[in-house]
Amino acid sequence: MSGARIVIVAAGLGGTIAAFEIRATTNGKAEVTVINDQDDSWFVPSNPWVAVKWREPDAIRVHLPTIMAKRGIGFTSAGAKRVHPGENRVELNDGSSVAYDYLVLATGPDLAFDEIAGLGPDGFTQSVCRTDHAAAAAAEAFDRFCENPGPIVVGAAQAEDGAVEATHDLPFGFSMILPAFRGVPAVFGIEGLTNPRGFILADKHQRNPAFPNVYSRAWVWRSRRSGRRRCRSASPRPDSCPRPPHAAWSKSRACTKRPRPRPCTAHGWRRRRGPNQPWQCLMLNVKRSPPIPR
Ligand SMILES: Cc1cc2nc3c(=O)[nH]c(=O)nc-3n(C[C@H](O)[C@H](O)[C@H](O)COP(=O)(O)OP(=O)(O)OC[C@H]3O[C@@H](n4cnc5c(N)ncnc54)[C@H](O)[C@@H]3O)c2cc1C
Repeated sequence: MSGARIVIVAAGLGGTIAAFEIRATTNGKAEVTVINDQDDSWFVPSNPWVAVKWREPDAIRVHLPTIMAKRGIGFTSAGAKRVHPGENRVELNDGSSVAYDYLVLATGPDLAFDEIAGLGPDGFTQSVCRTDHAAAAAAEAFDRFCENPGPIVVGAAQAEDGAVEATHDLPFGFSMILPAFRGVPAVFGIEGLTNPRGFILADKHQRNPAFPNVYSRAWVWRSRRSGRRRCRSASPRPDSCPRPPHAAWSKSRACTKRPRPRPCTAHGWRRRRGPNQPWQCLMLNVKRSPPIPR
């Protein structure tokens, strides 16, 4: 296939939707390839259901090779070991490299449980950030809690620089604390690409200023009430977000940008029976299953 080589690193919600939209927009004029680190992806917002056993992990799983092949998108699950933006290539875990003309980074955050002793699924608190965390919580901690209920503590240990800002002493029978985020090892510490915390530097077009053929997808959500888009935390945080992510979260200050609603380019608003948002396209591939009876 001729045309630009567009490579998307990671196939979570951000990367998959980026791949679908880029494929639909370029309409076969570009070679689109997705590099993920596993063959499956899970619908993250449903993780809390997994944690309380309302859903099995399989019910929110998408098998990526099938859906990528169906749309003519190249796919590998070898995982990105290191991005080399100066050489326009991504080094994979299997030792090979994928060259690109344009790169989209959508790896999501590295969860920094290790920055606080005892935090996380390997310590004393639970997590629903990943589906395997939620499944582990469901398998043991939630059952234990139901047998022997006690106080529940839910919170976040977010800090822009990973430093401790406050400490609290609370007894709990079950606790779920969101860890601080940082960039994944594949991009961490690349001069010009990331900030000291490993977040991708990006302008208002999600484009990296030092490597203008490199783009990123952020964790962004839209407030139902205000319709404004807020930059929550994110691996890549656009410079257009005026506030640090933890402040945006706690004080609910909005970004200045007010985006127009965007239809899924793969289906469009006009197709009445089809989904009208990109995430709905992805969810079409999630197996429909009845909730587990409570
Ligand atoms: C419990 C929970 C509930 C949520 N509810 C909502 C909601 O209701 N509405 C909403 O809008 N948002 C919600 N969110 C946020 C939303 O899920 C995230 O914004 C979204 O999942 C982020 O997608 P992402 O693709 O950027 O990152 P992720 O979903 O984290 O995906 C990152 C992907 O990168 C892959 N990866 C990592 N490193 C590499 C590598 N080196 N090479 C290749 N691949 C790699 C991983 O395997 C993973 O598939 C929720 C989040 C959580 C945790």
